[in-house]
Amino acid sequence: MSDWVLGIDLGTTNSVVAVADGGQVRVLADAEGKRLLPSVVSFHPTAGVLVGELARERRLMDARNTVYSVKRLIGRPFASPEVERARGRFAFDLTEGRDGVVMAKVRKGLFTLPEISAFVLREVRNIAEAALGEPCTRAVITVPASFDELQRSATKAAGRIAGLEVLRILNEPTAAALAYGCGTSRPERVAVYDLGGGTFDLSVLEIDGDVVEVVSTAGDSFLGGDDIDVSVAEAMADVFLRAHRWDAREDMQAFERLRAAGEWVKCQLSTLETVDATVSELTYGDGGRALDLVFRMTRPELEARIRSLLARSFDVCAEAMREAAIEPGDVDSVVLVGGSTRIPLARRMVRDFFGKEPRAEIDPDLVVAQGAAIQAHALSGRQSAPKSLAKIGAPKRRKDSTRQFKLHRAAALEGRPEQVAFAPARPAPLARSPKVRPPRASTAPPALPNLPAPSTPPLSFLVPLVLDRPPSSRPPPEEGAWGPSSAPPPMAPASEPPLELDASDVLEVGEPSTGAPGAQAEPERDSVVIDAAYAASLEPGRLLRYVAEDSEPSIVIDGIEPPSGSEELDGLEPPPSGSSAPAAPAPERAQPVLALAAKQLPLLMDVTPRTLAIETAGGYCRAIVRRNAPIPAEQTRRFTTAQDGQRAVHVRICQGEGPRFAENQLLGEVVLDGLPSRSRGEVSIDVAFLVDADGTLDVRAVDVATGRAQAIRIRLQGGLSDAEIAQMAARQREVLGEGV
Ligand code: ADP
Ligand code: MG
Repeated sequence: MSDWVLGIDLGTTNSVVAVADGGQVRVLADAEGKRLLPSVVSFHPTAGVLVGELARERRLMDARNTVYSVKRLIGRPFASPEVERARGRFAFDLTEGRDGVVMAKVRKGLFTLPEISAFVLREVRNIAEAALGEPCTRAVITVPASFDELQRSATKAAGRIAGLEVLRILNEPTAAALAYGCGTSRPERVAVYDLGGGTFDLSVLEIDGDVVEVVSTAGDSFLGGDDIDVSVAEAMADVFLRAHRWDAREDMQAFERLRAAGEWVKCQLSTLETVDATVSELTYGDGGRALDLVFRMTRPELEARIRSLLARSFDVCAEAMREAAIEPGDVDSVVLVGGSTRIPLARRMVRDFFGKEPRAEIDPDLVVAQGAAIQAHALSGRQSAPKSLAKIGAPKRRKDSTRQFKLHRAAALEGRPEQVAFAPARPAPLARSPKVRPPRASTAPPALPNLPAPSTPPLSFLVPLVLDRPPSSRPPPEEGAWGPSSAPPPMAPASEPPLELDASDVLEVGEPSTGAPGAQAEPERDSVVIDAAYAASLEPGRLLRYVAEDSEPSIVIDGIEPPSGSEELDGLEPPPSGSSAPAAPAPERAQPVLALAAKQLPLLMDVTPRTLAIETAGGYCRAIVRRNAPIPAEQTRRFTTAQDGQRAVHVRICQGEGPRFAENQLLGEVVLDGLPSRSRGEVSIDVAFLVDADGTLDVRAVDVATGRAQAIRIRLQGGLSDAEIAQMAARQREVLGEGV
């Protein structure tokens, strides 16, 4: 068994994995060099369960069977307002399972949310194992500081279903502060401003040497980059409505495309002042004429739209300040976390609120995983690294695995869009090329050009492709996919990473459209998005060609076929990337390797995010461990029997700040059974409530008269038993076709 402990940021939108040795922290990349794994799971009709980028792409085609954003709902009861809200917004179905738990209903059946997250964690684990070259079974997983007991234990359960021993559930802001090494040279009060895809959190930490204390935390689980995407999509829908009298909001699949386009525009506007986007064939007009959306947005326009949305985050900041009894100016440092903090307006507003420039030297997407890895290393018991982290990079893809990957990808992308959904307005179309198959190079192909490092933010270009095979029949639209069957399939976002000339990527080019009314004009013409830097490196007039042969398509440039497999393409490095964002690398983007100062490993001290209480007569609460109490914490309460011969006591527990029990989050109940049969009031039991360093609850009980331990159980609302976790783990391995 390997002794690495993984640091995992299991994000709402993206997940990241890192490891640390005594001297370095490294974010691990997958075989394609990507460090952000979209936390998306898609259940494909034939290609099994897809996780990450492939699943994210499927969201555009098969939203009903593609599950995302589960972190917002994990550990929440079906009856909660958050689940209610999500059901109104999410395209996949959520239903109520046993014990009030939320289940995702997809074509492969019903899955609990810990199971869905476990698919992501298993993929994370696979990435780590491939990068490190050894099995990994232990992890530290981060959660928002505001997560309650149910959410933490559901996250832990997800880890266990994925075959990981979860050594610690760590608060995300604490992880970020660890990565920044805050407070190591002097005591420091740090505000961590975390604006991700779906959620916002603000936490105030006090750090002194190796002790990190979360003094307050507040959040909004429905505020993040997704809302901005929708806002831009609304603007697009308005433009289209004015131009064509057709409202994209009434067609979920079309709006889903606008949302993806909205994200692309938003990300571009973090570095550019103006962005043009074309969403082609959004719908069809008179006589089946394809109608495109042509859209332009400037940064000030975006800012005007999102200012009030971002302002909501500062209400949350003010709440956290009140809770910590400090003013914004009392904070020594402000740390930015989450991809949405790349938005310049967000940075300015943070600066204005706190009165100081926020810290953003470490990539805001990666910083949490890096901090988790530092804590993971502290818990690993490892003295020194078995091999230097410096040697670990993206694993080289072997030929056979490349082939397997291609086949998998081919199956996954069947019926995939044949055009990009949106892109900057098309450049003047190149002359149509004859449908002649280019000669194949018989000798080894010459080296491909190195990509120049982009000096300006790369834009995506549309490059016409010549399809060398006859327009083949399109597979029938799959069951459950949206949209009228006569419409072309939805289109892929231009927010895709730059094209590397690996044959497996080339499969992203779809077949020519045959079914759509407007698409017959030039069936052999297709488009693929490539990176601007790469486009610039091509001589004018050079064409990319798409050659399909023996079901193994490949891409050629000017008749020269590059080799498949990444090992031969080592010289062809893509521009620095790694974000889900298609935009230019942000100027502050840091190396995925972080040097650690040689110092004592941190001892972490956190606080409980919510008051833990028990139910008392008349529906009221009595606090056991108060909100923001330092943890680990232990409090003991004495319980006595209320009836003669009473053999069991059930005590309901909740988390929250309301005086009435019903206002708070029901956690479940503590059950004392097998009590000795005595008169009422004669049996007294001391119950110790322990909140451990993970913020998870444990209980112990002692019979006061005898001093003997009394049997006690916590039944968490929707909690999973060991047997259920084992069963889910087995089902997951079966679904994924993994033996062990
Ligand atoms: P989470 O913590 O929710 O998993 P991340 O920290 O990975 O999320 O942030 C994802 C969000 O960041 C997405 O909404 C994405 O669109 C947004 N994002 C990423 N890059 C940029 C950028 N350059 N400009 C604006 N938003 C960005
Ligand atoms: Mg995050």
